[in-house]
Amino acid sequence: MGSLIPPRHDAGLGEGYHSPQVPVSVRLNTNESPFPPPPEFVRELAAAVASTPFHRYPDRDATELRAGLADLHGVRPDQVFCANGSNEVLQTLLLTYGGPGRRAAMFEPTYALHSHIARVTATEVVAGRRAADFSIDLGEVDRVLAAARPEVLFLCSPNNPTGGAMSAASVGAVVERATGLVVVDEAYGQFAPWSAMELVDDAVPLVVVRTYSKTWSMAGVRLGYLVGPAEVVAELHKRVLPYHLDALKQAAGRLALRHREAMEARVATLVEERGRIQAALADLPVEYWPSDANFVLFRPVGHDGRAVWQALVDRSVLVRDCTGWPLLAGCLRVTVGTPDENTAFLSALRESLR
Ligand SMILES: *Cc1c(COP(=O)(O)O)cnc(C)c1O
Repeated sequence: MGSLIPPRHDAGLGEGYHSPQVPVSVRLNTNESPFPPPPEFVRELAAAVASTPFHRYPDRDATELRAGLADLHGVRPDQVFCANGSNEVLQTLLLTYGGPGRRAAMFEPTYALHSHIARVTATEVVAGRRAADFSIDLGEVDRVLAAARPEVLFLCSPNNPTGGAMSAASVGAVVERATGLVVVDEAYGQFAPWSAMELVDDAVPLVVVRTYSKTWSMAGVRLGYLVGPAEVVAELHKRVLPYHLDALKQAAGRLALRHREAMEARVATLVEERGRIQAALADLPVEYWPSDANFVLFRPVGHDGRAVWQALVDRSVLVRDCTGWPLLAGCLRVTVGTPDENTAFLSALRESLR
């Protein structure tokens, strides 16, 4: 019998993704929707579950789901690829276009999974830096492209955890310069004024990644997708496991699209609440960054960020502790919750900063 062999060495691989699941009454740490999906959706899904032929493999091509998403975005079904959460979409992209000898670039600080999944797939990570206001400077893009010629370049708009969205002009300029595939992660796209979806074309090396986890109130379902050139979608399909999307998930994703108006109404409520939170933060001893997403990054001034995080937990409010993240010293990130949750957060924050 042999002994347990060490795992492959993936340079720089840390502990992976962890968001502490602390028992509190107001959970504003993982950017989920605070609203459950509409009751009609749940009823329709229950009926679909009851009529699912469980003994058969699901539709391998997720035909109806992809047709529905194509319809939603005004593209063809062969330009849509679905997976178990947008993180699996990102992983499949890196299995296809990254890997040993290839490079993926991103601009920090940004969503930690972009570099993490690159490392897990043995793709070399090339980290650019955002400007002081967390926007992406084209000079920095040029520097990274010239130095590394990455096969994959990640953008995140709106950017997690800093909140700002990119303009049409900046995304267009990056796509024009890119040395490989540009991946725009739009997990929070519906909260922003503009989407890169309109740039998607079979002849453009760009994919836009979306998820059901945030705006569609379906984080528990694990469903994400991308829209991009048909050729890219065909390559991704060669690399995913057979029947990777189960029948229940396909039904959930398809049925949710019938409730687009309810989703948009929730987004409108959250955008309004985001404005209320930002207005309140402006009157407190904190620095905050204007957000185009469903969360706001802020930094207590004259107070230790970690101590403020703990003071909020002591008041049963959980926000994301970013104080130890690279380039985000002292920062906390709050997800926009229900009006009551936001009021609870703001009053706990006022007390914590007293
Ligand atoms: C939350 C989030 C996702 C979502 O991942 P899922 O696997 O779809 O739940 C993707 N990208 C960013 C930037 C996110 O913040």
